[in-house]
Amino acid sequence: MEKYDVIVVGGGPGGYVSALRAAKYGKKTALVESEFLGGTCLNKGCIPSKTLLRHSEIIEDIKKAQSWGINTGELSFSFDEMLQRKDSVIQKLRNGINHLIRSGEVALYNGKGNIKPNKEVEVHTEQEVKRIQGDKIIIATGGSPAIPAIEGLDTATYHTTDTIFDIDQIPSSIAIIGGGVIGVEMANLFSSLNTEVTIIEMEKRIISTEDEEASKVLLKNLKKKGINVLTKQKVASVYQSESKKTVFVSSSNGKETAIEVEQLLLAVGRKPNLSAVEQLDIKRKGPFIDVNEYLETSMQDVFAVGDVIGGLQLAHVASAEGLTAVENLDEKRKQMNYSHMPRCIYTQPEIASVGMTEKEVKDKGITYKVNKQPLSGNGKALAMGETEGFMKIITEEKYGEILGVVLAGAHVTEMISQSASYMQLEGTVDELAELTQPHPALSEGIMETANALIGKGIHTH
Ligand SMILES: Cc1cc2nc3c(=O)[nH]c(=O)nc-3n(C[C@H](O)[C@H](O)[C@H](O)COP(=O)(O)OP(=O)(O)OC[C@H]3O[C@@H](n4cnc5c(N)ncnc54)[C@H](O)[C@@H]3O)c2cc1C
Repeated sequence: MEKYDVIVVGGGPGGYVSALRAAKYGKKTALVESEFLGGTCLNKGCIPSKTLLRHSEIIEDIKKAQSWGINTGELSFSFDEMLQRKDSVIQKLRNGINHLIRSGEVALYNGKGNIKPNKEVEVHTEQEVKRIQGDKIIIATGGSPAIPAIEGLDTATYHTTDTIFDIDQIPSSIAIIGGGVIGVEMANLFSSLNTEVTIIEMEKRIISTEDEEASKVLLKNLKKKGINVLTKQKVASVYQSESKKTVFVSSSNGKETAIEVEQLLLAVGRKPNLSAVEQLDIKRKGPFIDVNEYLETSMQDVFAVGDVIGGLQLAHVASAEGLTAVENLDEKRKQMNYSHMPRCIYTQPEIASVGMTEKEVKDKGITYKVNKQPLSGNGKALAMGETEGFMKIITEEKYGEILGVVLAGAHVTEMISQSASYMQLEGTVDELAELTQPHPALSEGIMETANALIGKGIHTH
């Protein structure tokens, strides 16, 4: 039996990054993946969604440009070609990871991994079962779409994010169950493709874990696009007829509404993939694998990272956890730190945050200061015709430590790392206020907000 210093099970952003770093540290490393390298993120998540969302952004830009005197004739698009482009982006990145794995001297096993209590891993393919032995194991098996218990769903056809990126035609109408990050991104996409979209959200607002004002700005924009957003409403049942689905929705006051749609998309969260650990007596935290701050599970020399441990289910978080786990393979060296993880929503406008929300700060009883400045007066925002949104900074009152930043507006997902860097380096709001930003730039809004917060605003109060 082939022996390895480290066996990583799962080749998503948590797993393949861990494997490459472990190999770089001189560990004899194996990576077991049952489907495609890149995991959910590359194949069914971040990359297909962002590629298709780029198309919707262009469609919106073309529509907007007409009111600026730029005319392109009647707007038309080929969904087939959009899907082909999406597939080619995925393929390019898959090839890239394959190349990295090969040149990084990681042994790749294509098959379903099953971890035994003695850290032997069985790799099942259709033809055979291979057995490999690990000194250390990293579980990075990710997650899959959760399917809610809804009456009639078992006899209806529906999509999850595992299938929606491969539909062959644009639906005339779609109901999206779940108004979280994935739900609102998909609503944005389909609405630009002229699909009639309804979002059904149980909570009192969409993106309920994020900043309340960001949620409001996004809601306003989704509504402006003609998206029907139902909040505090629960799907009671689904009825499938030959060509349509009827979604019965009940509100908290008992009122029932029936919505007829061509397609149904479930976007209600994700559950961990646990088939690899079925034979292990490993501690759980709810449905997820429990780990400590060193990413160690309850089993000696077995670590877990990424969506399979729950928490912030984001690709860069999975990778950061993977890198941290590798640091701790031989001895406890590094604790996982989640306080500066950016969280991005790729809608129009985009929403990007880092650190605590105002609610979290309040709930923790921290005395804080907050300032929010709209983008409506920002020169670059006006030049681009992208004035929707704001920049908000929350600081601890006494020393001005930056506790949280929320940006809503165009391209803010590219801008949030600037604030994250300050936070990581324990910078204060005074230091952030002093940084000269280029002009004209949307990021001037961060400088303005920081200055306003310390009473030094030039264009702001
Ligand atoms: C539609 C959508 C959009 C998203 N957009 C973003 C975004 O913009 N930004 C962001 O940061 N995050 C985004 N995410 C979340 C992101 O995709 C995940 O957080 C990330 O992929 C988690 O990485 P992971 O390595 O933990 O797991 P995964 O990426 O799920 O990878 C796990 C891998 O393990 C494999 N596996 C499972 N069981 C076994 C087994 N027994 N043996 C062998 N292999 C196994 C799976 O095949 C899979 O390839 C999005 C998710 C979705 C669904």
